[in-house]
Amino acid sequence: TIWPDVEKIRNEFPILQQSINGNPLVYLDNGATTQKPVQVIRAMQEYYTGYNSNVHRGVHTLSQKATSAYEAARHQVAAFIGAHHHEVVFTKGTTDAINLVAAGFRKEFLHEGDEVIISGMEHHSNIVPWQLACEEKKAHLKVIPVTDNGELDMNAYASMLGPRVKIVSVTWISNTLGTINPVKDIINMAHAAGIPVLLDAAQAIAHTPIKVHELNVDFLALSSHKVYGPTGIGILYGKESWLQKLPPYQGGGDMIKHVTFEKTTYAEPPLKFEAGTPAICEAIGFGAAVAYVTQLGIHKIQAYEHQLTEYAIAQLKTIPELRLIGEAKHRAGAISFLVGQHHPSDVGVLLDQQGIAVRTGHHCTQPLMDRFECPGTVRASLALYNTTADIDRLVEGVRKAVTLLG
Ligand code: PMP
Repeated sequence: TIWPDVEKIRNEFPILQQSINGNPLVYLDNGATTQKPVQVIRAMQEYYTGYNSNVHRGVHTLSQKATSAYEAARHQVAAFIGAHHHEVVFTKGTTDAINLVAAGFRKEFLHEGDEVIISGMEHHSNIVPWQLACEEKKAHLKVIPVTDNGELDMNAYASMLGPRVKIVSVTWISNTLGTINPVKDIINMAHAAGIPVLLDAAQAIAHTPIKVHELNVDFLALSSHKVYGPTGIGILYGKESWLQKLPPYQGGGDMIKHVTFEKTTYAEPPLKFEAGTPAICEAIGFGAAVAYVTQLGIHKIQAYEHQLTEYAIAQLKTIPELRLIGEAKHRAGAISFLVGQHHPSDVGVLLDQQGIAVRTGHHCTQPLMDRFECPGTVRASLALYNTTADIDRLVEGVRKAVTLLG
């Protein structure tokens, strides 16, 4: 029982209706960025053709219209993740959201000898900001080890939760292995030790329902472009108490209450963290993307993609030269593999020649590649518009690459 309307859905994504190198496009690079449906493209076009104007400042009609649409998008995104709208800060994306929190901890909460826990499967954007903060404060970055099948070693994690740990910052779903981490356990264990948790939900957002209040997570970062919205926008969810405590990230217009040369007072969150003119059109596009996914139903998408993933793994395993990297029990989104002794980029080029878009390389997870002792992988990553036919083309494409590479 495969997603009944997949052809109708595919027709809503104009970019998918094209040929690449003489073959119909098979787009399997959704972990890097997803394609955008007409609903999103239209919402953004309507903004620029109908009511482009700056937000939060003007009394005139267009500015009020732009402000309402920008704030309506905040409400839509908040509802999508089960948050209050005032807990949702618009950022440039996941990277920006993590940097916002890391900068706050660096300034206020991290001291010499303290510890920050991340995991061995983090994207560079959830490694480097913490590394910079730890270097400056002479704090220590601790890394939860990854097991051979690509899961987090939860016993090791339990033993790491000591009194010096100031925050745990881990990914919900690995962009390289597709592993779904046991985030509820990760959060409960940290909270039992009085430690806050940040979840990188960049990959989770398109593949799994998110309810931040049920999870009781302290911070959650994600990007619009991973969930059928535009680039340049994302959010930081923060518990209200944390957003109150966290110092401002950048200074400028929109984030203030009152400015004098002696002393500035800040706006209440979320505006306290939104200095300068925001990405208004992008926020509106993000709202439209979330509305699109809501209308299709994230639970249905999850169930469909789960079937597709199982199918893909079973089919890929029929290729004798193929080795999967990461075989976690719970997984979504990404499937990484190597083919014989061939370099991933050689396989990627041969797939591109057949119109199949995959990603090759380290996927911004170099320490994870070191862990699996490979220079990189070939990664196929799925979205709601992919089909079993796409998977068949991928498998056929890999077989052809094996033959050509010898
Ligand atoms: N974390 C994960 C798990 C990701 O997959 C990505 C994007 N590849 C990021 C963080 C960074 O997201 P962005 O580049 O949109 O800030």
